[in-house]
Amino acid sequence: MAIDATSPYDHANIFAKILRGEIPNRTVYEDEWALAFHDINPAAPTHILIIPKGAYVSWEDFSARGSDAEIAGFVRAIGHVARSHDLVTPGYRLLANVGGHGGQEVPHLHVHLFGGRPLGPMLAR
Ligand code: AMP
Repeated sequence: MAIDATSPYDHANIFAKILRGEIPNRTVYEDEWALAFHDINPAAPTHILIIPKGAYVSWEDFSARGSDAEIAGFVRAIGHVARSHDLVTPGYRLLANVGGHGGQEVPHLHVHLFGGRPLGPMLAR
C-alpha cells in the first residue's frame, strides 16, 4: 500500500532495518551519507536503490529538512553508483516515488536507479 509522504518517520520500516544491519541486503556502495543496494525485485537488469543514512520519509521530507551536506552527499552517491556500474554512456533512469500518487511503498527515501537496457517510455499511458 502506498504511504503518506507527510507521516512521521517510522523507525521500523524495512530500509531502517537494513541501515541498522537487522536484515540482509546486497550492498553495492556505502559512504557516510548513503547506502546503495540491489532491489529485491528488480525491474531492469540493473535496479539499485540508493537511500540516505538519515531518517527521511521521502523526497519531500529530505528536501525540506536535510542538511546541505546530507543532500550533497546523497546526490553524489547516486552519481558514483551510476558511474561505477558503467551506466553513463548507455544511459540510465532515476526515479523517486513520493507518497500516494507516486506509489511509494517504503517510507524511507529511496531513489531507484535503473539501467542495462533501453527503458522505454517514462510512464505507461
Ligand atoms: P517504492 O514503491 O518506490 O517504495 O519501492 C520500494 C522498492 O523496495 C521496491 O522496488 C521493492 O522491490 C524494494 N524492496 C522492498 N524490500 C526490499 C528489501 N528487503 N531489499 C531490497 N529491496 C526491497
